[in-house]
Amino acid sequence: MRIQATLPPTAAPVPAQSLAAGMAALFGGTGRIDDVIRQFRERFESEHVFLVSSGKAALALILQALHRLSGRRKVVIPAYTCYSVPSAVLKAGLEVVPCDVDPTTLDFRPDRFAQVLDEQALCVLSTHLFGLPADLDCARALCDAQGAFLVEDAAQAMGGTFKGRRLGTVGDVAFFSLGRGKNLSCGGGGVILTASKDIGAAIGAAYDGLESESVAAAVRNLAELTATSICIHPSLYWLPAGLPFLGLGETRFYTDFPIRKMGEARAATLMNWPDRLRAANRSRIEQAEALIQELRRTAPGVVVKSAPGAVYLRLPVLVQENAAKQAVLAEAAAMGLGISQGYPGTMWEIPELQGRLPERDDEGAREVVERLVTLPTHGFVSPEHRRKICRLIGQISAAAGRRRAGDPTAGQGSSSSRAASSL
Ligand SMILES: *Cc1c(COP(=O)(O)O)cnc(C)c1O
Repeated sequence: MRIQATLPPTAAPVPAQSLAAGMAALFGGTGRIDDVIRQFRERFESEHVFLVSSGKAALALILQALHRLSGRRKVVIPAYTCYSVPSAVLKAGLEVVPCDVDPTTLDFRPDRFAQVLDEQALCVLSTHLFGLPADLDCARALCDAQGAFLVEDAAQAMGGTFKGRRLGTVGDVAFFSLGRGKNLSCGGGGVILTASKDIGAAIGAAYDGLESESVAAAVRNLAELTATSICIHPSLYWLPAGLPFLGLGETRFYTDFPIRKMGEARAATLMNWPDRLRAANRSRIEQAEALIQELRRTAPGVVVKSAPGAVYLRLPVLVQENAAKQAVLAEAAAMGLGISQGYPGTMWEIPELQGRLPERDDEGAREVVERLVTLPTHGFVSPEHRRKICRLIGQISAAAGRRRAGDPTAGQGSSSSRAASSL
């Protein structure tokens, strides 16, 4: 364990006031769920809002409801995304159909999209990864042509927009995550939104039959939330970061997660969420824009994603090759800079999905696994951190550029970087 100031990869601190409200609600609080639902309905102009135990629980409920409405079973998801997504599809008893992604947009490749989407597709899960809005016009056109639903995975994008419309309100139905490290957190939770009467009724029927979280779970969550709010500070983050059993930043696949209604205590900690979200997103956008500007100077070779309406939960950056990615991650870890690797594999590389997927097609997603690093954008990132991060990426990518210029096979792109990573 390294005892030094360490930036966490993401941070959505919960104010002490909100923690106190959560504790007060443990002792006979009521009405918090209804208050929070009302706020979401107003802000997102969605008639039907449900608060549940996690983003993956939200997704599983959405998929089960859509399946009851249409009878179809195939769920089209990005070939590069959070492992909770395919786990929720299996939990709902449905089929995972990954579609390859474009490394420069992290969104579906339009040419592959048309191939995987047929009249058996239940829905497409357009994903606003790292808070970057997906192309919902393209997804909508293809969904309409095949009679599939458009679902927005806005787990990382609460508060963002697509062509001026709020993310989470453009698809037929959407969900947000309130988990650790998301735009807004109450320790764990999910929000389902839909303006559709039929979808709202189908989800409502299932929701009414769910149990609420137990008092023990509510107490545990408040304790964890309090501990995280303290340890998320860079002067202390080395502590949880150095404790492997906490599994921070790990990506795991599991389908044995509970599907419950959110409890009153959790909802109470969301008090003032619109202000918290606005402040956190404003600061993330400022950090990301400053990083983008600095990287244009220090590391002109790296591809930096930027898009209007993005809320940048983290800033994704594609370095030239896997060797450069590994060098950036190793140096950044030693310096405590909060740079993280993204997801460890494509959907075809998840052991639990072996034998359940169609023929492998993940060239773009592989490229992302090879080359993507994500930079922290939260409020603890100082101008000094930004300078160090950009200088580090600049130095390593300049070295990678020189290596590639002197290397006769350097122009081969993904095949040469794939070879590097399999060494
Ligand atoms: C976090 C996340 C989820 C799942 O949300 P949980 O609240 O962690 O269950 C789904 N999709 C994406 C893209 C996510 O980042």
